[in-house]
Amino acid sequence: MEHNRILVTGGAGFIGSHLCEKLLEQGSEVICMDNLFTGRKDNIRHLMNHPYFEFIRHDIQEPVYVECDQIYNLACPASPIHYQYDPIKTAKTSVLGALHMLGIAKRCHARILQASTSEVYGNPTVHPQTEEYWGNVNPHGLRSCYDEGKRMAETLFFDYHRQHGVDIKVVRIFNTYGPRMRPDDGRVVSNFIVQALKGEDITIYGSGEQTRSFCYVDDLVDGLIRMMNSRDGFTGPVNLGNPGEFTMLELAELTLQATDAKSKLIHLPLPEDDPVQRKPDISLAEKELGWGPTVQLREGLGRTVEYFRQSIASQVCPALKKCVSSHSVGAARAREARFCFENDKSFGVRHASGI
Ligand code: NAD
Ligand code: UDP
Repeated sequence: MEHNRILVTGGAGFIGSHLCEKLLEQGSEVICMDNLFTGRKDNIRHLMNHPYFEFIRHDIQEPVYVECDQIYNLACPASPIHYQYDPIKTAKTSVLGALHMLGIAKRCHARILQASTSEVYGNPTVHPQTEEYWGNVNPHGLRSCYDEGKRMAETLFFDYHRQHGVDIKVVRIFNTYGPRMRPDDGRVVSNFIVQALKGEDITIYGSGEQTRSFCYVDDLVDGLIRMMNSRDGFTGPVNLGNPGEFTMLELAELTLQATDAKSKLIHLPLPEDDPVQRKPDISLAEKELGWGPTVQLREGLGRTVEYFRQSIASQVCPALKKCVSSHSVGAARAREARFCFENDKSFGVRHASGI
């Protein structure tokens, strides 16, 4: 039997590890490439003995030579504290990483999918966001390294497509959550759950009236695979997300219910350029991919709470205590991230040891 050989960059991360697992289940060979910046060996340890799974520790900022049929380009820190930790590196990961992966796709005639983001819409003035909307992005703010890096990556994908005929697919992922999120990544779902489970105050940034749409990771992975295998010529960009829209206050309430916790809500300053509202229009994904989310927030939160309960019990992240009690934003959050990394032994690309 012939197997598709699939390269997944960022494969040891939250979404990437679920994707690797699913692709293996479907009978593909998977090469997982990751520098373990925010990814963890624990996310893929259970795959290491799979005969069709291979792990390469590599930073996609650097050129690399791989033979493959498909590439999912997911490598990039996704949470604000992590992508703001070293913003220049974040931009390089998006831009140089895209160039290197597109180079492989061109040479191997591989199909390549880019994990873009709802952040390309910035603080949107159109609601819900359709793919036609060009966005409202601050080009020099704290979030720009990520937002503009991802926008430039989209540009490169479309130019490689137009100029060299590379077979591209671009998805714009909206907030995704689920098991294997890092407890210390500062994203709202992981923060609220960990705070609730530890009986700490729930940190609402700003008034809590800002909205987000939360997609459960299994639904997202299904959308990514459908997009990769979509009809020839359909490049996207296509939104992937759950259109259910919640304020952060509503999310806090649901988290308290899912954890049975009595934590109190406290308000902290809103981070710079924090989008006011976000909700995907997914009509294109429905039409082209026959895709829509199936896991609603209450159910997904329940599964995620269970994961964090177990993680906390087994002390997965040694820096957990320090990080989840972060009550600060902006530069101070970046300093806290540094603290986490320096205390996390899996951090750093210089450790050349195998898994
Ligand atoms: P994550 O931080 O868990 O995963 C990113 C992975 O990329 C990590 O394993 C990290 O170690 C790896 N990585 C980072 N820089 C790298 C580099 N230079 N070379 C090699 N590997 C590198 O984040 P995630 O939530 O799993 O996000 C995966 C992708 O999806 C990212 O590209 C992100 O921008 C995109 N995305 C995620 C969300 C979300 O809500 N989770 C939303 C929009 C877009
Ligand atoms: N947020 C919050 N409390 C937290 C973490 C985040 O109120 O402890 C808010 C944050 O200001 C933003 C929303 O939750 O408005 C989503 O934040 P996240 O970092 O998860 O994702 P993004 O802003 O990138 O969509």
